[in-house]
Amino acid sequence: MKETENKICVIGGGLAGLISAILLARKGKDVLLIEKKIYPFHRVCGEYISNEVLDFLKRERLYPDSVDMPQISRFEFSDTHGRAVQIPLDLGGFGVSRYVLDAWLFQQANDAGVDVKCGIQVSDVQFEKSAEKFQLTLSDQTTLEADYVIGAFGKRSRLDKVLARPFMEKRSPYIGVKYHIRADFARDTVALYNFDGGYCGLNAIEDQKVNLCYLGSRDQLRECGSIGEMERQVLWKNPILKRIFAESDFLFEKPEVINEINFEPKSPVENHLLMAGDAAGLITPLCGNGMAMAIHSGKMAAEAILAGKERDEVESIYSRTWNAEFRQRLWVGRKIQRLFGATGASVFTRSLIQHIPFFAKQIIKKTHGNPF
Ligand SMILES: Cc1cc2nc3c(=O)[nH]c(=O)nc-3n(C[C@H](O)[C@H](O)[C@H](O)COP(=O)(O)OP(=O)(O)OC[C@H]3O[C@@H](n4cnc5c(N)ncnc54)[C@H](O)[C@@H]3O)c2cc1C
Repeated sequence: MKETENKICVIGGGLAGLISAILLARKGKDVLLIEKKIYPFHRVCGEYISNEVLDFLKRERLYPDSVDMPQISRFEFSDTHGRAVQIPLDLGGFGVSRYVLDAWLFQQANDAGVDVKCGIQVSDVQFEKSAEKFQLTLSDQTTLEADYVIGAFGKRSRLDKVLARPFMEKRSPYIGVKYHIRADFARDTVALYNFDGGYCGLNAIEDQKVNLCYLGSRDQLRECGSIGEMERQVLWKNPILKRIFAESDFLFEKPEVINEINFEPKSPVENHLLMAGDAAGLITPLCGNGMAMAIHSGKMAAEAILAGKERDEVESIYSRTWNAEFRQRLWVGRKIQRLFGATGASVFTRSLIQHIPFFAKQIIKKTHGNPF
């Protein structure tokens, strides 16, 4: 069965997909967004958003003013022994759960006239050279055509396999785990507490809740047998984390967990799809910058489609702007990932932040963009 034609199809309704779809629909484009899940839903994410997106969100009426979002202006870092240091953040950010933010943006997408299909996934996408069109197949076997496709399907999707993307060949040693908790934790602070094999972020979000999200090791999980046991045996060796786990109220019945978190380089254009957000490259979570990059790249993909007259031009505008904005940030993120999750490196980094805060601020600057 064939469905009606859609000019632009956005695959994935995270931040990159929602932002690009809204901007295109507001410019009168015919946009279909396909999201495999149903809003609202939780995602593994630290939920700290860098203020580099603030001007843009406010200018585009995409900042959810009605939600009480803590403003974050301090950074706390601890080594694996639990020795902590704090510095002010120059740019700072705010905290909001993806459960709230994505559902709110989904509403804005509906209001902008985006045709959003939820609860169904794209199982195949091919570019037909002769017809100059994409052919998409959905999980219910329906097919549809599109002139442009934005691939905003996140860090890892079955489509990456379909598209034979090279990063899929490498296994990743990381897992991600997230909780919402009620805790005695400063609302103006984002923290990164190291433990052997990973690091745990904390920051306040809406409704007096706190996000606790960590990047851990798949091998340690296998050795310990369960998430709870790994937390007790590994994370709790950092006394700060032990106290937080012991004294806080955990609000989920069970944590959100993902595996195969891969920081390998990817390309912003593949098989003529414009890749946005994590689908184009995932920055290490310790940078606290992935959501800002997803929002920014969603904007850039929409702008490239609006600006380019021919497909070649659209693709070259997008590749050029994406590379100029993100390539170096992703490279720096991969390098500094090594300073985390190991005792020696975390002690060194803590001492560096303590004694040469200028250096720490430079690293933060190099992994963040300017307000846009
Ligand atoms: C442990 C961890 C902590 C993090 N903490 C932070 C943080 O504090 N601050 C920060 O800025 N960033 C953080 N990040 C990064 C941030 O979460 C991502 O960069 C951001 O979510 C990327 O948004 P996106 O729109 O590209 O992808 P996503 O938000 O992952 O959205 C992709 C969407 O595509 C859908 N999808 C996938 N395949 C298909 C398909 N075939 N058909 C239809 N739909 C599909 C998925 O269901 C999903 O909804 C963290 C990441 C991790 C792993």
